Amino acid sequence: MTELTLIPSSGATLPAAPFHARHLIGGAWRDSADGKVSERHSPAHGVLVSVAARGGQAEVEAGVAAAREAFDAGDWPRCSGKDRATILLKVADLIERNLDRIALLETLESGKPITQAQGEIAGAADLWRYAAALARTMHGDSHNSLGPDMLGLVLKEPIGVAGIICPWNFPFLIVSQKLPFALAAGCTAVVKPSELTPSTTVILGELLQEAGLPAGVVNIVLGYGDPVGATLSTHPCVDMVSFTGSTAVGKRIVAAASGTLKKVSLELGGKNPQVIFPDADLDQAADAITFGVYFNAGECCNSGSRIIVHQDVAQALVDKIVALSRKVPFGDPLDPRTQVGAIISPEHMAKIHGYVKDAQASGAGVALGGAALAPEGLSGLFYQPTIVTGVTSSMPIATEEVFGPVLSVLTFREADEAIALANGASYGLSAGVWSRDISTCLDFARRVHAGTVWTNTWMDGFAELPFGGVKQSGQGRELGRYGLEEFLEAKTVQMRIGATRRPWVAA
Ligand code: NAD
Repeated sequence: MTELTLIPSSGATLPAAPFHARHLIGGAWRDSADGKVSERHSPAHGVLVSVAARGGQAEVEAGVAAAREAFDAGDWPRCSGKDRATILLKVADLIERNLDRIALLETLESGKPITQAQGEIAGAADLWRYAAALARTMHGDSHNSLGPDMLGLVLKEPIGVAGIICPWNFPFLIVSQKLPFALAAGCTAVVKPSELTPSTTVILGELLQEAGLPAGVVNIVLGYGDPVGATLSTHPCVDMVSFTGSTAVGKRIVAAASGTLKKVSLELGGKNPQVIFPDADLDQAADAITFGVYFNAGECCNSGSRIIVHQDVAQALVDKIVALSRKVPFGDPLDPRTQVGAIISPEHMAKIHGYVKDAQASGAGVALGGAALAPEGLSGLFYQPTIVTGVTSSMPIATEEVFGPVLSVLTFREADEAIALANGASYGLSAGVWSRDISTCLDFARRVHAGTVWTNTWMDGFAELPFGGVKQSGQGRELGRYGLEEFLEAKTVQMRIGATRRPWVAA
């Protein structure tokens, strides 16, 4: 039997010159005042793919000032939902028109497979369209039952300048889970992509200009978490920070934001359990688990990185997952057959491997993988599909985010034990249950601590449905109308009608 399915170098021609990414501030493209840049090499091919301006204090100040001016004095917060929607729809069309160009850069910088990147860019265009619909349909409330002389109104107003800080694992998709919703609400923004994957956000900036978005409404400041993200988090002229990234950095942002009490919404890490009951369709479960753990090389907040399977079916299920894992094509992200690409950085590879070694040292078994991979003709960073069995709740691999193609297998006997294991991590992003009994599924859905629960499926997503975490997986929600609400403030207006107010001071 083939050990694993590897896709060698496709020999695809890589771009002759790196992409040059610059800041977008007040409608103008700029290098950093001090001329600093950072370089990004493709994690799959090792070649230089982008050179990005590396922002400092000066660029953050300029970006925030432009966004502030556009919010306080510009048309965007005051124009009609219809006008905002018109621009958002144009952006969606432009994203689709530029899909291949965006997807190629996304793949080169992140290491994800090209077909997956294409799917994500198409999904992002859909989010811009969905946000356009929200821009036209958002409304507040009226209260007509406060007495004959009163009318109460709840106005929904944009919160102001949003600082939008994004990670490297889904660069274009995640900025599209935030920015169109902020714009639909009437906010202006300063966007900071990850220093590892800046280029597709820069292309988005070009498309925003082409769509006719007024200068200063969206500013892009490139660079590292400190100083760019850190300054956005403390800046008195930024009204809100919308962050996706690690729980550790999320905590730092909350602490930094406390000085100005700005709103912070957080989409953080996860250690997402799937509980498999003995009556489950094991073939369906095995396929979904295989997808859930290897999708995006496991570098996914929603990674189905641990399963909690009933002892009676554990061996049968693991055998199926091992067999499927051998068939998943790992290798050159530029080959359309590839389903799992490269790991983002050498430091991250070491972290993934460290979790596997630590579990082994604590008595866990490795049913598959557990080492680096070297697809033919590629010099980049690849890790084998890895299945760690005999994991117990005290091992770090059971409760911490590995963020790699590594599945932890735990077992249970009673439903209560499975729930306790599922809720035993500090995270609460998503969870899944596999059973043919709807009562079992519903009971799990009600008792598990998670922002999203999948029953007999894994990692489906819809623009209409809110997404976010509980516990240390975050606060606030993206997508759906909840995603718009994050960028809105409620203002209460109490209107007295007629001269019926009883005087407080006796005449
Ligand atoms: P990260 O926290 O290291 O970085 C995220 C962003 O924050 C980057 O742009 C980085 O430059 C910036 N940053 C770093 N230090 C900062 C600081 N002190 N102040 C402000 N900004 C700072 O995360 P990452 O490694 O890019 O992404 C992986 C993490 O993101 C994982 O934990 C993953 O689970 C999480 N994630 C969550 C979701 C979700 O929706 N819940 C989605 C994707 C990724």
